[in-house]
Amino acid sequence: MNDAKSIANEPQSSLQALVSTVDLGLGALKPKGACWYCNAPLDNVRRFCNKECAEDYRTEEETFRQA
Ligand SMILES: [Zn+2]
Repeated sequence: MNDAKSIANEPQSSLQALVSTVDLGLGALKPKGACWYCNAPLDNVRRFCNKECAEDYRTEEETFRQA
């Protein structure tokens, strides 16, 4: 019976995934007109061209912090 409930929650969890990008500490980065990870030209609102770049940037940040 819980299965039907988890399917109903599916759209919310993908929204949560988008929100968590901000929660990861990336919200502190200022848009600079280019992707912070691969430097691809962007508009002045976005910080990364896609989610992969955001995640890779974060992964590298964590690697630097641990080193
Ligand atoms: Zn990028």
